[in-house]
Amino acid sequence: MLRLILATRNAHKTLEIQEILGNRFVVEDLRAHPDIPEIIEDGATFAENAKIKALAVSRMCPGLVLADDSGLEVDAMAGAPGVRSARYAGEKATDQQNIEQLLQELGKRAPAETGPRTARFRCVMALARDGNFIRTVEGAVEGEIVQAPRGAGGFGYDPIFQPRGYEKTFGELPAETKNQISHRARAVQELRGCLPVA
Ligand code: IMP
Repeated sequence: MLRLILATRNAHKTLEIQEILGNRFVVEDLRAHPDIPEIIEDGATFAENAKIKALAVSRMCPGLVLADDSGLEVDAMAGAPGVRSARYAGEKATDQQNIEQLLQELGKRAPAETGPRTARFRCVMALARDGNFIRTVEGAVEGEIVQAPRGAGGFGYDPIFQPRGYEKTFGELPAETKNQISHRARAVQELRGCLPVA
């Protein structure tokens, strides 16, 4: 068994990464380390933010540390909300507020039934050990933004994101399906090759 510390307090991310990695990995996140302060994610890209988080936590925790920085890129909105996905509707915005803001903004730029609503989830993961950066891996899943939220599964923008080739949103699809095709699943696939237990 390999122990991995995830540089996140997002229980949804932790659950998904644990399910994707399988039971040969013991995954622990920062909820088990309340002493670690909030990390300021001021990078301009997912990769910069993932590295900032992995290195900051790795300097405080021995062993392997993995950070996930991810978000939604909407083509008609020039790639927004991107790195600002978690805070799109404001610093303490809820998932529902972020979704409402995004649908409103996209409605102006891609009027219903006419404009393209293509989008992708992107995830960059950074791996570090004992304060040293090891590498980043990334994954993406293409899809489109539906007109109104559907489904209560997942988290974040899942109820409005329909992956290409499916007729259900990530909020409607079973977790097992999301965890096979998601941006996170694809990043983890790339990561496997550089973990001691593959
Ligand atoms: P981070 O914690 O700074 O990486 O912010 C990630 C944000 O991107 C989340 O709070 C969600 O709003 C969004 N996001 C990332 N991955 C997903 C996903 O798998 N489903 C839905 N939203 C996601």
